Amino acid sequence: MTDCIFCRIARGEIPAEVVYEDDELIAFRDLNPQAPVHVLVIPRRHIATINDIEPGDAELAGRLYLAARKVAEAEGVAERGYRTVMNCNSEAGQSVYHIHMHILAGRAMQWPPG
Ligand code: AMP
Repeated sequence: MTDCIFCRIARGEIPAEVVYEDDELIAFRDLNPQAPVHVLVIPRRHIATINDIEPGDAELAGRLYLAARKVAEAEGVAERGYRTVMNCNSEAGQSVYHIHMHILAGRAMQWPPG
């Protein structure tokens, strides 16, 4: 997807504060942070929503969590705690249609989420 904003970040065409990257994933700070730590982990490959994840993407989906773990450790919040969120489609509040895992930390979280 040439005009997808997160594809463009993955290609380095739009600046982002990258905190982790490997051959398949990239993690960068959210532009509008909702917590002291707010990082997004995305696959480099365009997948629009969770509904578009295929069985063959199972390893990639698991790697999102392994990256989240690394980011949480690097940010020093692994022991205090952090929340991972993936919004799917409009009613959940998805605004960028390239899957991304939010990592939120650095403050006490409420439950249930709004
Ligand atoms: P969602 O609403 O779950 O789709 O989350 C999209 C997130 O992407 C929001 O938290 C936005 O603040 C964030 N976002 C949008 N554009 C950028 C960008 N260029 N760099 C970093 N974060 C962004």
